[in-house]
Amino acid sequence: MRRVYLDNNATTRMREEVLEAMLPFYKDVYGNASSIHQFGRPARKAIDAARIQVAELLGAARPEEIIFTSGGTESDNFAIRGVMQALKAKGNHVITTVIEHHAVLNTCKALEKYGYKVTFLGVDKYGVINLEELKRAISNKTTLVTIMYANNEVGTIEPIIEIGKIAKAEGIYFHTDAVQAVGKLDFAVKDMNIDLLSISGHKIYGPKGIGALYIKKGTKIAPQILGGHHEMAKRAGTENVAGIVGLGEAARLAKRDIPDESRIKELRDYLYKGITSSIEDIHLNGHPENRLPNTLNVSFTYLEGESIILNLDMEGIAASTGSACTSGTLEPSHVLTAMGLDAVNTQGSVRFSLGRDNTKEDMDYVIGVLPPIIKRLRAMSPLYEKGK
Ligand SMILES: *Cc1c(COP(=O)(O)O)cnc(C)c1O
Repeated sequence: MRRVYLDNNATTRMREEVLEAMLPFYKDVYGNASSIHQFGRPARKAIDAARIQVAELLGAARPEEIIFTSGGTESDNFAIRGVMQALKAKGNHVITTVIEHHAVLNTCKALEKYGYKVTFLGVDKYGVINLEELKRAISNKTTLVTIMYANNEVGTIEPIIEIGKIAKAEGIYFHTDAVQAVGKLDFAVKDMNIDLLSISGHKIYGPKGIGALYIKKGTKIAPQILGGHHEMAKRAGTENVAGIVGLGEAARLAKRDIPDESRIKELRDYLYKGITSSIEDIHLNGHPENRLPNTLNVSFTYLEGESIILNLDMEGIAASTGSACTSGTLEPSHVLTAMGLDAVNTQGSVRFSLGRDNTKEDMDYVIGVLPPIIKRLRAMSPLYEKGK
């Protein structure tokens, strides 16, 4: 059976070149990067090179602005807790949105328990924040704005440049979770009034368990992992050399291959056209244009995403639902709910997230397989008959 992977927003397949770059650091180059002898020095050199590669992908002015972490989740935690703690004397208010990844959402919710104040901005029907609302939410106690670059569920891109301008004008730090944006969109942090930016290795065809936080020079931040003086004394712990090298190589290739994202976008639009031409009652979730090139989130009205995913899985197709299955109960996606999607559409969402391995044949396969599944499920759905 054909296997088609369309869950690249969850994780990506590591590139062959990345694995090749990493292997020596699991074998012969095992020295500690902090050791000054001949075993440690090559590890240090490799970390320095990877830092430059990541800085180049992000368009950072200086490599020292890149701090390696264990992934996107740690980078988000570090940025938010680190800034809020460092600036506690100045203020205790952080502004975020209701559609953030849980790495940001739950960090902000945890801060509330420690006396911090959090404003969760809503979004419009496309998942975009309102800049006037952001301006109104700012007070003299606000020290940080954390808003994702692009949403992982629906792909909507937020007005990052405008948010950066507003934060800068108010003298507030701006952090953005760019885990989904990096490698798919072309940008340079140094031109955007971004103070902190999170990325993750495994979302850009790199290894899992490695990520980075861009911290603009001069940004006040309290370290969250204490110990030795690793990573410019901002993040302690013996470096994950192989992981860092893998992230560096993934970053180099991501920068080189950004033009290929237009091919992925064409495939995605071809898939959307294909399924809408043979299936009725489909709703596109997310911004129609201002969206990640690889992301297609659609609701099949009156159906449950879970059953569609399971049926697709039986045909070898891996996609994901917008709604997270929490302890057996189907909770609707916090993102789709925030976008005000009607009840008949929130449950039936499916996210197809394409990647660089996908081909037109993959899309044709999905376009062929999906209509009978939807037809069958709708035939069994009492809601669908009633709704019609
Ligand atoms: C995957 C993801 C994360 C978490 O990154 P990990 O490296 O898996 O911890 C954070 N934010 C967004 C938007 C993501 O898609």
